[in-house]
Amino acid sequence: MSEKLRDAILGLAIGDALGVPYEFRARGSFTCTDMVGFGAHHQPLGTWSDDTAMALATMMAIKSQGGRIVIDTIRENFEAWLKEGAFTANGDVFDVGNTTWKALTTGQPCVGPMENGNGSLMRILPLAFTGAIDEEIRAVSAITHGHPISMEACVIYVEVARRLLDGELIGDILPTLCYAHPFERLSHLAELPEEKIKSSGFVLDTLEAALWAVCQAVDAEDPFADAVLRAVNLGEDTDTVGAVAGGLAGIAFGLKGQGEKWAKQLRNRELILECMW
Ligand SMILES: [Mg+2]
Repeated sequence: MSEKLRDAILGLAIGDALGVPYEFRARGSFTCTDMVGFGAHHQPLGTWSDDTAMALATMMAIKSQGGRIVIDTIRENFEAWLKEGAFTANGDVFDVGNTTWKALTTGQPCVGPMENGNGSLMRILPLAFTGAIDEEIRAVSAITHGHPISMEACVIYVEVARRLLDGELIGDILPTLCYAHPFERLSHLAELPEEKIKSSGFVLDTLEAALWAVCQAVDAEDPFADAVLRAVNLGEDTDTVGAVAGGLAGIAFGLKGQGEKWAKQLRNRELILECMW
């Protein structure tokens, strides 16, 4: 198993599980400092949600196809998740986005401008560990989220993950990427104050919030913990912002420190490890 893949996917699951209890909470109305149970979805400590489940469904599909990206296999795994509770922490699908539900039940991607939630961004990270080209990344997004903004957010996120895997620093990556509208803020994101960062379920907000949290954490004593806690504490879509940040923070910083403690607290950790390659 690749150590970086382990740190990335456990990092994603940790960010997800840290955020689950606080989903929908306004910024400033809570402070997440450690993994806790219950809250928004009334789940025990260490429970991860749809973000991790759909990333695992993607990983298992890639693994079963010998590393190839086969859209039908990924979609079948998503359907098994939604209908049968496969790839979950506890057999229970307690969190599913509207766009994801609509696309998987109709078999058609959602392409409307109002259908740009973060539901494909949250599960796209495994593709950074494959040879997937941009068209394949867009196609995996479009199983559910087929609007250009959602698809490009996934392409950008995978590129950032791959450059972190190559040892580049997050602060060096963002200014050098060329961004078209509406992604132009990414180039100077690190300098923005927290009040300029939104953490809603809109895919652009989630991407910005997660990248911002990772940028702010680079000089922290425990940068992984700082990044995921900072991401969750932005509020609103806490589990997905936490997951999207946690995946990159796992690659950039590793899990040493609080991350390894939280990794042991994740529910159904065996399944997460089984999906790796
Ligand atoms: Mg979720």
